[in-house]
Amino acid sequence: MQKFSEIEYKRPDIAGAGKAAEAILEKFSAAATAEEAKELFLVLNHAMDEVQTMCTVASIRNTIDLTDEFYAGEMKYINSEFAQLMPVSKKINKAICETPFRKELEEAFGAQVFRLAESQERLITPENIPLSIEESDLCDEFKFAVADCSVDFMGEKCNFYGLLKHMESTDRAERQAAFKEWARLYSEVSPKLDDIYSKLVANRVQQAKNLGFDSYIDMAYLSRGRFDYNAEDAARFRSYVEKYITPFVAEMREKQKAVLGIDELHWYDESLDFPDGNPTPHGTKDEMIAAAQKMYRELSPETGEFFDFMTEYELFDLETRPGKHMGGYCTSLDIYKAPFIFSNFNGTAADVDVLTHEAGHAFEAYSAYKTQQIAEYTYSTSEINEIHSMSMEHFTYPWMDLFFGEDTDRRLYSHLFGALSVIPYLVSVDEFQHRVFEKPDMTAEERKAVWRSIERKYQPWRDYDGNEFLESGGFWMQKQHIFLYPFYYVDYALAQTCAFMYYKRMCEDKQEAWNGYLELCKKGGSLGYFETLESAGLKNPFVEENVKETIEFVKAKVLELYDACRK
Ligand SMILES: [Zn+2]
Repeated sequence: MQKFSEIEYKRPDIAGAGKAAEAILEKFSAAATAEEAKELFLVLNHAMDEVQTMCTVASIRNTIDLTDEFYAGEMKYINSEFAQLMPVSKKINKAICETPFRKELEEAFGAQVFRLAESQERLITPENIPLSIEESDLCDEFKFAVADCSVDFMGEKCNFYGLLKHMESTDRAERQAAFKEWARLYSEVSPKLDDIYSKLVANRVQQAKNLGFDSYIDMAYLSRGRFDYNAEDAARFRSYVEKYITPFVAEMREKQKAVLGIDELHWYDESLDFPDGNPTPHGTKDEMIAAAQKMYRELSPETGEFFDFMTEYELFDLETRPGKHMGGYCTSLDIYKAPFIFSNFNGTAADVDVLTHEAGHAFEAYSAYKTQQIAEYTYSTSEINEIHSMSMEHFTYPWMDLFFGEDTDRRLYSHLFGALSVIPYLVSVDEFQHRVFEKPDMTAEERKAVWRSIERKYQPWRDYDGNEFLESGGFWMQKQHIFLYPFYYVDYALAQTCAFMYYKRMCEDKQEAWNGYLELCKKGGSLGYFETLESAGLKNPFVEENVKETIEFVKAKVLELYDACRK
């Protein structure tokens, strides 16, 4: 393989690859023996690898420089060509599900790839094509409506993201002023967002009806690959959060008031753990990469090899630059079996999170590429994928001094308490979406009331400093997942709970915990949710006792770190 920047991009012939796949499919369907079917199944499974890799190269280069017209044009071409392949993939899924050699293929490659194909089959109907187009148009409308919001603040033009940065200031007056502008922008755009959301809800309900589902909730669970748990299980999990996490976070919020020297803790105070600011990492980007390399070499031979590979082939783009897409992600290049990490370093602890969280995703892909032969098994569903990344954040704790020096205890406190205290919010977003789709005809006002009641249950400390819009339940609409990725959010809470299980075991027996984690990464997406957990020695997060024992341990550690920061 060559360095990422040296990979030559050639426009992929997507239609041609589709035709080639159809030709393989014909042979597969005509296979006379199980051996033949197995061989052709693998060829078919990787028929799109080359095309997919070129698409990923284009997509990475597009996000690295959105002003580069060449790759913007390529992305347009790629998206429209892929849309044309829908009938081919439907045909492939159908043939895979109906093959007479299914039993033999399942024995060879596992049942998961067939479960995935079946769910895809179940989720596609031509009747929904106009609705899917409308849904994606509404999502675009949402993105434009939000991107359009900006205000002049302290001499610069700020969007929501820019105002959030000011809300992290150590100067409370600045936080409050930024908050007021933030809330005003949302309140002004809220009629539009309410309208878009009402349309999205109606659209999704209709899609579910067309597919014969009783409710959109069932359809959403299936499309997220949730074969092992249902809405009742999720509700049970949320009740454990309310019981074991919410009261503790409420207590810590009381302590936080004393730490910050304030009588009332408003929302814009919550993220500040120390009056003089949360710890930030030392060093330049290159120093941080060097520190990460040392860290991963010391952590295990596997992570050392992985990170050396990432640096040798320059499989990251970390620094922020004008024209670059916001945020961070990890993706992968199939034919090179290589992950790629993208981010926008901004000088805060979030930069280190990229080198742990996104690197956790990348390490998993790197490991799964080596052990799994089915394309769909490179990654799992998000409940599992986020364990890969969140656990790496914990496994790298012993090296945080390389980044934070004398501030290490403070960073560890911020990180661990942050990971725990966000869970009540994560499940609030989950409960809200269940409530919305249980009663899809709710008005915008009714939805706000529902949000506020959920917020009071899981985050009773939440105080919006008298802001009418937010006090009456407007906060839900700042979560883009609710619009764009329905029902995607509890995944993070489930994954964090499992990552905490590794954290507990890591404190008790580092090697044993690490071995379990390696196993998890090697399994990739080859098994169902519960099977994957079991294979990696993780406990079921829908069982109260498992959540209780894990969370009790984390709470004790949070308190330990809280004290350590004050010595
Ligand atoms: Zn992640």
